[in-house]
Amino acid sequence: MSAFAGVAEKAGYELVVPPMFEDLGVFLRIGESTDVVTKEMYDFEDKAGRRVALRPEHTAGVCRAFVQHRPLLPWKVWYAGSNFRYEKPQAGRFRQFDQVGVEALGSSDPLLDVEVVALAADFYASLGLRDVSLVVNSLGDAADRESYVGALREYFTARVGELSEESRANIERNPLRILDSKREADAAAISDAPSMTAHLGAEARDHFAAFTAGLRALGVAHTVDDRLVRGLDYYVRTTFEFRSTALDASQNAVGGGGRYDGLVENLGGPPTPGIGFALGVDRILLACDAEGVFPADPPVVEVFVVDVTGGQEALALTRELREAGWGCDRAFDARSMKSQMKSADRSGARLAVIVGPDEVTSGTVVLRNLVDSGQETVSRAELVSRLGAIRQRETEQR
Ligand code: AMP
Repeated sequence: MSAFAGVAEKAGYELVVPPMFEDLGVFLRIGESTDVVTKEMYDFEDKAGRRVALRPEHTAGVCRAFVQHRPLLPWKVWYAGSNFRYEKPQAGRFRQFDQVGVEALGSSDPLLDVEVVALAADFYASLGLRDVSLVVNSLGDAADRESYVGALREYFTARVGELSEESRANIERNPLRILDSKREADAAAISDAPSMTAHLGAEARDHFAAFTAGLRALGVAHTVDDRLVRGLDYYVRTTFEFRSTALDASQNAVGGGGRYDGLVENLGGPPTPGIGFALGVDRILLACDAEGVFPADPPVVEVFVVDVTGGQEALALTRELREAGWGCDRAFDARSMKSQMKSADRSGARLAVIVGPDEVTSGTVVLRNLVDSGQETVSRAELVSRLGAIRQRETEQR
């Protein structure tokens, strides 16, 4: 999360923390023919009989907050948190899962689409992931999409005999979903299905051309897949998905997003374009594991206090060092020197401050470097300034 915050905040996105649950109506705006809404939502009545739901995603809640509070535009925000979907749990698919993401409201400039997509790509790269590919498409404007949906409905109706039962049920409800089917039975019919490209209006086509040109200008590798549709119904124009080639096809989507220019209006706000993405944290961790690039945070504990006088000295020293800005820990239960040194090693600290009865008498401590095992005796009163000098030297050496 801190890695994501770093990338997002450098690009001018501020943190937003939408509520974990909302009025059910907010999520119904995601689209009533979306599985996420119809089948996967954890909705219930509260004690006053209100229908509420645990959030299945963040975008609707962020747009609701925008409509309610009307921050200045453009409003660029990032978030991190759990979502809940009543799905069949399997590898990489959970009923509670975490996402990080951004939303940018208030501009339909295709260069904003480029910024948003590049930001996600930069985040994967910052983790050291190499096997992540980007697929992009345009779903056109609302009218283009409607004409495409009509063409798909006609096409799939003609080939209904070749479809799985689930996809047959989608012909009337939402034929775009059929394109997303991973079922083998549907593969042949999908591969001959009409393409979105032919249904794009001039404006959507220009927008998409400017978007892909921007990606090329930044060197963000991508492929265009004119059958890419995503699980949420509110997308128009730009849609995109990031896939990890290190993961199995059934769970290889590590993030995705798109434009949702009509969503704010749908939630009762003024017409406000928007674009965003959500990246699946659980899947990203799986991908890091598969690629062997586990980003280890630097150890937070820098100094470990080893007190063999019973523990009172450590009580005062840890407080003093924490106040001086050091990550500092200690052991409890008056354990032996050997056992405390083991804990010091395990803590990841690079320095140990050791106090025994002799040091208490002489008003000193032993400062031990746990990396090279060098040590020195330092006056207790000068400990903080001695540590400060060590930190300064380390910073200069970096
Ligand atoms: P979506 O919100 O459906 O656009 O999904 C965005 C990303 O969230 C996906 O690419 C996945 O990485 C992740 N994701 C979605 N659903 C799940 C789930 N049930 N379990 C784990 N990750 C998920």
